[in-house]
Amino acid sequence: MDIIRKSDATRLKANLPDYDQFCAGFHWEDAERLLDGLSGGKLNIAFEAIDRHVIHGRGDRTAIRWISKDGARRDFSYVELQRETNRFANVLNGLGIARGDRVYSLLGRVPELYVAALGTLKCGAVFCPMFSAFGPEPVKARMEIGGARVLVTSHSLYKKKVAPWRKELKGLDAILLIDAGDEVESDMHDLPSLMAKAATEFPVAATDPEDMALLHFTSGTTGRPKGAVHVHRAVVAHHLTGKLALDLHPDDVFWCTADPGWVTGTSYGIISPLTNGATMIVDEAEFDAGRWYGILESEKVNVWYTAPTAIRMLMKAGAALAKGYDLSRLRFMASVGEPLNPEAVIWSNRTFGMPFHDNWWQTETGGIMIANYASMDVKPGSMGKPLPGIVAGIVEKHDGTVREASRPMTIGQLALKPGWPSMMRAYLHEEERYRKCFVDGWYLSGDLAMRDEDGYFWFVGRDDDVIKSAGHLIGPFEVESALMEHPAVAEAAVIGIPDETIGEVVKAFVALKPGHEGNDDLMLDLLGHARKRLGPAVAPKEIAFRNNLPKTRSGKIMRRLLKARELGLPEGDISTLESDEK
Ligand code: ATP
Ligand code: MG
Repeated sequence: MDIIRKSDATRLKANLPDYDQFCAGFHWEDAERLLDGLSGGKLNIAFEAIDRHVIHGRGDRTAIRWISKDGARRDFSYVELQRETNRFANVLNGLGIARGDRVYSLLGRVPELYVAALGTLKCGAVFCPMFSAFGPEPVKARMEIGGARVLVTSHSLYKKKVAPWRKELKGLDAILLIDAGDEVESDMHDLPSLMAKAATEFPVAATDPEDMALLHFTSGTTGRPKGAVHVHRAVVAHHLTGKLALDLHPDDVFWCTADPGWVTGTSYGIISPLTNGATMIVDEAEFDAGRWYGILESEKVNVWYTAPTAIRMLMKAGAALAKGYDLSRLRFMASVGEPLNPEAVIWSNRTFGMPFHDNWWQTETGGIMIANYASMDVKPGSMGKPLPGIVAGIVEKHDGTVREASRPMTIGQLALKPGWPSMMRAYLHEEERYRKCFVDGWYLSGDLAMRDEDGYFWFVGRDDDVIKSAGHLIGPFEVESALMEHPAVAEAAVIGIPDETIGEVVKAFVALKPGHEGNDDLMLDLLGHARKRLGPAVAPKEIAFRNNLPKTRSGKIMRRLLKARELGLPEGDISTLESDEK
């Protein structure tokens, strides 16, 4: 696969030093000094995101540009955001919410969500965002685990998703409805009326850097979601990784398309762009290729952060659509959440004149760990290299201990040396599950990967998803990427099916691009293409066509569900399941 070289001009525009220069002599304490902090060694995420800019005379810049479903725009300057979040913090105070109390949101991407998130942090309470599309059960389970005291939601979401079990949840003191009007019941409040009465001044809580700030549930791709605990110190990593891995500069117009219900939508959809003084775009609507290009054009987006599932849908919509828009303001594009197929990197380079830069991280790591930097040549299909201050390794397990692989391109667990600021501090109420992530001084990610001789990391598959066939270890990503090269394929998911003679055989599920029909001829063509690309040992033996693939709310393919169904096993936890059409 050809390397995408960065020209000197690109490097210069990114204004970033060389990768090796970054890493040499890096200390997290230096990164901490990029922020202001509060007196006495205290630190508060919301202060760094908002108030700091106002103090430094940058309050009139646009912090958030919100685009409603019907296309209306609403801007919040940093100083306006300061006032609104102060009001919200005062509202919480008025309800008796204290440091460490849990405040949940169940909202679409409306301005109130962003105000609630930052206002909660200002008040020293803990914020836990949930996808508004979750059903009643996942909402209840998350609120129970975290011990919710306050829920911010809308009238209709409340009725559908909370009212059915409301009486069963003890400790939930207040429900703040963003649109209650006169229809308020006893423990419910109309948020706009409370906000209107609240003062616009608030002394930001002097939180300790190690105080809990955010509770984020994992995506539930591999099983029951875990509640990862993050602290205020995480802001140091959010800030620096935004600069380095997303090339964020003050005054950039930045669009992270993720919903805050997924960790990406909080770390990089709220905190990082604001600490870096950018203008962040929030689009209330769901994915639509034309709408997205329209936003990139009209808002003059410079930096764009999205996910492979969206990129594959853009590819499905075709390059011609993209060419119809003026995207000349785009300077940097990045992707996270799933492996980014080489085909997608090459397609984006051809279509936009620059590639999507893949980066890797997890809910647990709180921020980007491995990335393709603006100043670095891109090897399509690789996640890039570890950020400064991050020690990543490929480790192999031997009788309960782990050892770092010495040879390049060895497949092993992707592991990290703990010590960066945004590392989770716990899985809430699941000490054993948390403890098991650490062996011999390494945090084990649960992903399998390889490192090449240049230090680039390559994703192989989730530990649970890797297929063992006739002595080969097959990563689903490699097979899916090969299928993606076929012009008819929009998406692919690959699983292993138990087989008596060779251990497992590879089966692929494929969704097609418009204009293609899943018939026997296409199946034979695809099988032939895969065999030619991968060899008979690795290529799928069987292909099933589907309208789409089962995915989590954060857009991740749920291979375990395809496998469970195939084997007639229980489906397991599907609380985060989204698209799923045969
Ligand atoms: P759960 O832990 O509940 O099964 P999840 O792991 O999908 O869900 P997240 O924390 O949202 O929850 O996702 C992190 C995972 O997403 C990573 O461990 C990895 O498997 C995958 N991932 C994220 N970015 C990339 C990437 N750039 N390349 C490959 N995989 C990625
Ligand atoms: Mg995970």
